[in-house]
Order: sequence, then C-alpha cells, then structure tokens
Amino acid sequence: MSANPASPVPVARPARRATAHGAALIERHCSVGRTIDVIGDGWTFMILREGYFGVRRFDDFQQVLGLPRTTLADRLRRLTALGLLRRVPYSLAPPRQEYRLTASGIDLYPVMLALMAFGDKWLAGAEGKPLQLVHQDCGQDCSAVVICSECRRDIRPERVSYRDGPGAGSGTVPLRRRTRRSADPTALERRRPSSVARALRVIGDRWSFMIIREGFFGVRRFDDLQTRLGIAPNILSDRLGRLVAEGVFRRVAYQRGPERFEYRFSDKGKDLFGSMIAMLRWGDRWLSGGRPPLILRHADCGRDFEPTVACDRCRQALQATHMRYRMHYRDPVGGS
Ligand SMILES: [Zn+2]
Ligand SMILES: [Zn+2]
Repeated sequence: MSANPASPVPVARPARRATAHGAALIERHCSVGRTIDVIGDGWTFMILREGYFGVRRFDDFQQVLGLPRTTLADRLRRLTALGLLRRVPYSLAPPRQEYRLTASGIDLYPVMLALMAFGDKWLAGAEGKPLQLVHQDCGQDCSAVVICSECRRDIRPERVSYRDGPGAGSGTVPLRRRTRRSADPTALERRRPSSVARALRVIGDRWSFMIIREGFFGVRRFDDLQTRLGIAPNILSDRLGRLVAEGVFRRVAYQRGPERFEYRFSDKGKDLFGSMIAMLRWGDRWLSGGRPPLILRHADCGRDFEPTVACDRCRQALQATHMRYRMHYRDPVGGS
C-alpha cells in the first residue's frame, strides 16, 4: 500500500457509545495517544525524570520535586501499575521499598530527551538550557536529535509518510480519562528548572497532543480536526487558541467571505515532530502488543524506519546509563 506525505491517514468519524464503564469515545488506535495517557500527566513524567537521575526513594522524590505526599504516592502507584516502575525492598526492619525503573520505564528515556531538546531550543530563554547532557560514549557535550534508524539522517516531518500497520483500527477510550488535567504547570519546576516541563507545558493536555498529531498527518482545518477527533467545538477552539498563543500553530486565512482559517505549524511547531514520533515508537514497543498501528517511511532512504533518539555529535542512540549531566543551577538535592 503506497502512502503520500501530503495525504492524511484516512480515519472514520469517531462515534460516542455507551459501555459498561459509561460513555466512551471510539478512537483510532494510535501509539501517541496511548503514550500520552501514560506520560501526559506532568508529575508522572517528572517522577520518571528524577528516576533517570538516580532518585529511587519516596522522601528523595518528595524533596526534589516538592509535590504533596498524597500526589506523589498516587503517581508512584500509577507508574507501578503501568509497569514503568517496580517496588524493591531495601530495608526489612522497618520494611521499606524503593522504586526502580523497569525496562519500559528506561525505554521512555529517549522521549524525555527529545522533549528536553525541544524545550532547550525554544523555551530556555536568556538563562540558557538548565541542563547540559554529556554523552559518555563520545565524551562530548551533546543534544538529542531524532534520526532514522535505517539511514541515520535527521528526520523532518515533510520527509515522512504513514501507512496502516498490523494494529490499525479503532478502540474505545473512557471519557473520564480524556478530561484529565495536568498538574499546575508552574508547580513542575518548583525545585528544578526543566526543559521537559516547559515542553510539556507548551504541548498541553491530551487534546492538544492529539491536535498536534493530526497536524503532522496534514489535517489543518477546524471542521476536519473536529471530524477526525470527535472533539467538542468549544474544546477544539480553546485548544487551537492556546496552541496559537504558544506559537505552535500559525492561523492562516484560506478563504474570504466568509473568512476561514487553517492552522499551520510554525518552525517551533514543526520541531515537535521528533518528540511525537519518539512517543509513537515507545507506544508501539510497549503498548501495542507487537502490532504497531502505524508504519513510518522515510523519503530520504525510502525505507520503513524507527525513530531513534541519538547524540548530535556521534549519531549513536542515547541511553540513560551512558549519560552524565552538568547542571546550570543549584542542585537542591546534592547540596553544596
Ligand atoms: Zn532514512
Ligand atoms: Zn555522542
């Protein structure tokens, strides 16, 4: 089956229906959507971030993140239930457990790096990026780039086409999960400045992620977005307005009398593509049961590929255990 980058993936109109769990929305299978369900909550992702830095114990998470203990307990439970963290005893008397990353938790690390690269580039402001990555394999200060697994070149959105994979289809998403709001975005940076937190703030909630995803499929107009996402018009207006205000989209008139607008990515918005496909890859690997809903093809090399988050200096894939960090702010945990 051929695919054309200019043509959106065909999607049936979503429908609402009642289920045993109440109202639900039928939604096209998408690993980005599934991944957002896991990490869309800002605190959840910040806990993982601290995990990559080596934090494992409840009190240490609490200290570095400065979040309420009940919220922390809730998110740790959630991350454990999702299989991203596992509890391991470290003391028998009194009985104490710490939280260690599982293989799927460790594999989310490249997603964090892709979001961090976006935040560093577009949101760091005058102070510069809060954290410098140092890649141990090549010994150089580096940034994360998203490259093609086959030809190792950078991935640009206009060079990627999509086609249905073995897991294509639709499923139901309980409505209550879709309305989940992220934590207060400013609270996420209470203790440590973070480009990841800033990137998550720009991307916003789950609906905003889905609108951005449709944008990368070539959907630009209000009515088309509404049809494909089954989103209420007032929510769609609100999220589009927010994404324009954040500089992700530009509003461009495509018709006069009556005047109508479409939403095109700014350069900043286009730069979110790497993060989106890094999430897609993670969701495909861990949440699709080995049946990815979408296959990506890279026009530069003509091959199906996996998005790979790599070192911009040596082009090797970045792994959590091969990384050091230089902080450009005072570390509240490390002390002096
Ligand atoms: Zn390629
Ligand atoms: Zn390197």
